[in-house]
Amino acid sequence: MATTNGTLENGQPDKKMPPLPHPIRNLEVKHTKIFINNEWHESKSGKKFPTYNPSTVEKICEVEEGDKTLETMDTGKPFLHAFFIDLEGCIKTLRYYAGWADKIHGRTIPADENVVCFTRHEPIGVCGAIIPWNFPLMMLIWKMAPALCCGNTIVIKPAEQTPLTSLYLGSLIKEVGFPPGVVNIVPGYGPTAGAAISSHPKIDKIAFTGSTEVGKLIKEAASKSNLKRVTLELGGKNPCIVCADADLDLAVECAHQGVFFNQGQCCTAASRVFVEEQIYPEFVKRSVEYAKKRLVGDPFDVKTEQGPQIDQKQFDKILDLIESGKKEGAKLEYGGSAMEDRGLFIKPTVFSEVTDNMRIAKEEIFGPVQPIMKFKNIEEVIKRANSIEYGLTAAVFTKNLDKALKLASALESGTVWINCYNAIYAQAPFGGFKMSGNGRELGEYALAEYTEVKTVTIKLNEKNH
Ligand code: ADP
Repeated sequence: MATTNGTLENGQPDKKMPPLPHPIRNLEVKHTKIFINNEWHESKSGKKFPTYNPSTVEKICEVEEGDKTLETMDTGKPFLHAFFIDLEGCIKTLRYYAGWADKIHGRTIPADENVVCFTRHEPIGVCGAIIPWNFPLMMLIWKMAPALCCGNTIVIKPAEQTPLTSLYLGSLIKEVGFPPGVVNIVPGYGPTAGAAISSHPKIDKIAFTGSTEVGKLIKEAASKSNLKRVTLELGGKNPCIVCADADLDLAVECAHQGVFFNQGQCCTAASRVFVEEQIYPEFVKRSVEYAKKRLVGDPFDVKTEQGPQIDQKQFDKILDLIESGKKEGAKLEYGGSAMEDRGLFIKPTVFSEVTDNMRIAKEEIFGPVQPIMKFKNIEEVIKRANSIEYGLTAAVFTKNLDKALKLASALESGTVWINCYNAIYAQAPFGGFKMSGNGRELGEYALAEYTEVKTVTIKLNEKNH
């Protein structure tokens, strides 16, 4: 079955989706200004900032800084993923929330015989949205669609690395006739434009996806300004538990796609794979075979499965973590370095004999690195899976229903996938336990994050009884 984000549950693109257009390299970039009130503005400060193509590390253009496949060019995502997964996911999410727009209503509450009491679900007002660079358009739509269907307006700050698709969306917003001011897009840097949104006294709510570190700053700025409502979708170090009775072909493929998808740059990345000891050697062997076959290269080539990392900073961080794995005694099974001949590309990397104290088992890598650990029994793996501060997603591979349900209830995470990975639907809530976030995106649950509940109580005139 296809998921909302356009993947099949084994993490592969759903090729039954609409016909694929030809990827166009070096698209002309038409929109680089700030989009406010349906008009394009230059920055007040006169400042601009560059955006780069991570495949070539060349500058694409300059974007005004606010104190179409464009996505492939700006992020380095393989074209097939940008088109089938991100774009299709956006369309499904927009359609889902369009359906909610006339179904948002309150309740009538029996309170006392002399009163009529009911609730109204009202818009919060102006919503801020701060977007990361790993799924620039999809994360924007996850916020914009529920915000608008609940009657709010929105101010969006795309990530500084990837502003182009949001700005293109601005041109479509104008073209389809949104009233001015409903959707506003302000490209810029985090500590300036992002901080201005999170501390703004007239912004009533903020939705953020990004690092746990910046999530804390946003909550602090919200508290210090006007106590605006905050939803946060933050980091993850997600356990993927493979029991000895699992369908091994399925588990190996899902664990592989789960960690390597989007160059490993996913908060849902399967970056702690726990494998039961009886099947450990076989699982490692097959995972290495998968990594060897992964096609790394030009993201505009439709056969490519893995493009470059987003920027030099992330590239350096990933290589540093790979080095730490080698030094701390993990066994490097495959990869372990940059591609020799080009930009920000890293070889798909597999480590075995990983232990929980190693940095690659504790820190969010956000790169194409698969650390594989061993476990002996279910009680032990539950404890180890829950031992860290994150709690975004978890996956379990087993054919035993009792085991699956035991793990589903014991794992401290906002989502548990059983025998599938990255199965994300517009209808189903998504968000984190513990330091992986606050609140939920997607599904009916997200509506509560974009509405205020008003209680209206009417005292009846007893004389009229
Ligand atoms: P990463 O570390 O993966 O780049 P970040 O959490 O730094 O992720 O970035 C996610 C988004 O948060 C980006 O749009 C970025 O500009 C923004 N951001 C970064 N710092 C701040 C800040 N201090 N206040 C508000 N937004 C910020």
